[in-house]
Amino acid sequence: MSPKEVLAYIRQREVFTVDLRFMDFPGVWQHFAIPADSLTEATFEEGIPFDGSSVLGWRAINEADLLVVPQPETALIDPFASRPTLTMICNIQDPVTQQDYTRDPRNIALKSVQHLLDLGLADDCRIAPELEFFLFDSVRFDQTTNQAFYHIDSDEGSWNQGSAGAGNLGYKPRSTLGYFPCPPMDSLSDLRTEMAQIMGDCGIATGAHFHEAATAGQGEIDLLPRSLVQAADHVMLARYIVRNVARRHGKSATFMPKPLFGENGSGLHTHLSFRSEGHSLMAGHNYAGLSDLAMHAVGGLLRHAPALCAFGNPTTNSYKRLVEGFEAPTKLAYSRRNRRAIIRVPVHDPGPDGRRIEYRCPDASANPYLLFAAMLMAAIDGILTRADPGEPLDRDIYELGPEELDEVPGTPRSLDAALDALADDHAFLLRGDVFTPDIIDTWIWYKRQHEVEAVRVRPHPFEFSLYYDVG
Ligand code: GLU
Ligand code: MG
Ligand code: MG
Repeated sequence: MSPKEVLAYIRQREVFTVDLRFMDFPGVWQHFAIPADSLTEATFEEGIPFDGSSVLGWRAINEADLLVVPQPETALIDPFASRPTLTMICNIQDPVTQQDYTRDPRNIALKSVQHLLDLGLADDCRIAPELEFFLFDSVRFDQTTNQAFYHIDSDEGSWNQGSAGAGNLGYKPRSTLGYFPCPPMDSLSDLRTEMAQIMGDCGIATGAHFHEAATAGQGEIDLLPRSLVQAADHVMLARYIVRNVARRHGKSATFMPKPLFGENGSGLHTHLSFRSEGHSLMAGHNYAGLSDLAMHAVGGLLRHAPALCAFGNPTTNSYKRLVEGFEAPTKLAYSRRNRRAIIRVPVHDPGPDGRRIEYRCPDASANPYLLFAAMLMAAIDGILTRADPGEPLDRDIYELGPEELDEVPGTPRSLDAALDALADDHAFLLRGDVFTPDIIDTWIWYKRQHEVEAVRVRPHPFEFSLYYDVG
């Protein structure tokens, strides 16, 4: 839609409120609403001022003003608002320079795509993310002592108590066997269908949806390939839909990577392919039918994988998912069939046009704009330097001896380690001014200060089990 068409649509649908959305630095959608009749064609050029100082990781108080600039092609009637409400995703601009704000994650994603075009390596980078999440019946936090103890109930996950003490105590997924018996075992099928249908109404094309392997309410909805920035927009909109459909049914959804010890976590596996003039550049005569360009992209993603974890696995909780035994990848390697490798090349033959690589490392807590941009920059670095991805890891890790296994480097073991990796390795992100040194420094500072340190100084619930009667 053009600005004119958006204004006509507002009149036609009798829209009362326009809700403006943008991404904060860590990865949460923010919004504020304006009266529909205050929106004019000029708004799409000039933007609307707002106080950026309250957005996490953005401006200091003394230079707080920023502009939101609505993007007309993202206009959509909000499926959850009780009064006719039109939402638009916004870019952020600096009011003084009228330039796009360098810390706006969407701007970083837009610049990464422009960089690809400037280099002439491809004219499209397509991304297909797999959304995994948990649906819980109730979650309670006890923050009275500033220690977040929590308690989670899931009708699906507990054999002893249904929701509100009632409900069906049979037909519950067994541990690790949630993937994927039919209803009534999978009691969330209707909810996922509702989510996928609303996604479709909002222009998000979905593929399969199913119960994932965890006992307690884990679901997956796969999104079909889209250009990089639209794919990131769709991840944000799809998460919004998942959360709001869950709420409509009295449940809550979480994209936290590892909410339950001893169960699978939630990933954000991301399929990536390059295209030029409508054709895939991925198919060729190398391993798994990949082209030279695709092999070099794999080489780049592997080379920079520890630094990429700072964006793809950006929470302290992320590293509780990246452990052996729960189908999450732990080895910096690529493979057609070994899911412990961070890069998988799908085994079934998708035909030359569907050939792609699946980057399995990222998790559901990632800011998709920063993640997809960083992945693209790592792949570009691999292509430009003709990076060699080495040998694939096609033997199951359990078949490897301990020494052979040690030779395959592993994923970082903590957020702190991933931030160290990013501090050491970020020149590839700075090409074309896509990421700036300020973004890298602010990200590392923000994550260490607000998350790594904040978690480090709080007593952990499990410490009570280990130490309550010690000494
Ligand atoms: N949920 C798993 C993960 O943490 C992966 C299971 C799958 O292969 O989809 O990545
Ligand atoms: Mg999955
Ligand atoms: Mg997958």
